[in-house]
Amino acid sequence: MNKTVVIKEFGGSDKLKIIDMPVGDLAEGQVRIAHKACGLNFIDVYQRSGLAPLNLPQALGMEAAGIIEAVGEGVTHLKVGDRAAYASMPPGSYCERRVMPAAQVCPLPDGISFEQGAAMMLQGMTVQYLFHRTTPLKAGDTVLFHAAAGGVGLIACQWARSEGITLIGTAGTDEKCQLALKYGATHCINYNTENFEEMVRELTGGHGVDVVMDSVGASTFESSLNSLKPLGMMITFGNASGPVPPFNLALLGPKGSLKITRPTLFTHIASHDDCQDMARHLFSKVTSGEVEIVIGQEFALADVQKAHDALEGRATTGSTILTV
Ligand code: NDP
Repeated sequence: MNKTVVIKEFGGSDKLKIIDMPVGDLAEGQVRIAHKACGLNFIDVYQRSGLAPLNLPQALGMEAAGIIEAVGEGVTHLKVGDRAAYASMPPGSYCERRVMPAAQVCPLPDGISFEQGAAMMLQGMTVQYLFHRTTPLKAGDTVLFHAAAGGVGLIACQWARSEGITLIGTAGTDEKCQLALKYGATHCINYNTENFEEMVRELTGGHGVDVVMDSVGASTFESSLNSLKPLGMMITFGNASGPVPPFNLALLGPKGSLKITRPTLFTHIASHDDCQDMARHLFSKVTSGEVEIVIGQEFALADVQKAHDALEGRATTGSTILTV
């Protein structure tokens, strides 16, 4: 049997229950992986609360790292004993071991620990697609990046620095701003005490930024649009403060022929080859030292409720993992 975190109904962290579940039989194209650590992501909160609907009951968690214990027919990129890590659908990674599709499971380089692997796959491949697969970005461009001291945020700060991109971060406390600056943000604005739209105008000589990467949603959306320069790109990729209300696209014209997109990682990694390429790019950023994976918090699997409370309560910085 296998300790697994499941929800039977949507709601608060008290809905997270640990139960014993069978691991299941291996089919073609699948692997069985024994987890060493699991990653915690804000999408897990949306799934638990019902903001991102799922069929219930449902095991939660989208990311983990561990050792391959068994390999199904047709799987050629992994073998028994390999170290591996993944971020992928379907949810169910908060557990000791699982059987799952192999396509998005990636061999983990020796220089990267299981803890780092579990902390980086979902957030790191997200940064990879934001900077390389969503809109053309080049050295010298300026990006506004919200929640810059979070899991995705601290990776984005370092990634931008490594590509010569100016990153203006925002965060909810002065301490979080200091952390974002330490990890490569060029500027960081405390959006709980400052008007970030005005400050971005000031910092860019009145021009605005080339791209906004906004995962905060409801509370930042409008000011984010107003922070763009003409022809700028709004990437809205999350809703930590709540979903963005319905929006009249015609407003993008007078605001300067702005562009807008709403991407998800799971489209970008749907193909095996794309996923493995993105993971290799991420691994190279980490093994070269350009990007450090900052694990701000570790919880035991049994403390998953506390972990969710901390993430949802804005009490975390960097990435968060559950140890198995
Ligand atoms: P974070 O570690 O960044 O945690 C979320 C942060 O959002 C908080 O720490 C907080 O930072 C900020 N925040 C602002 N308003 C609120 C609020 N009302 N309630 C809670 N938090 C708030 O999480 P992740 O790194 O896991 O994810 C970051 C974002 O990116 C999430 O929105 C997530 O859904 C999104 N995402 C989207 C993906 C995609 O492909 N579309 C893939 C991966 C992540 P502060 O206190 O500084 O404001």
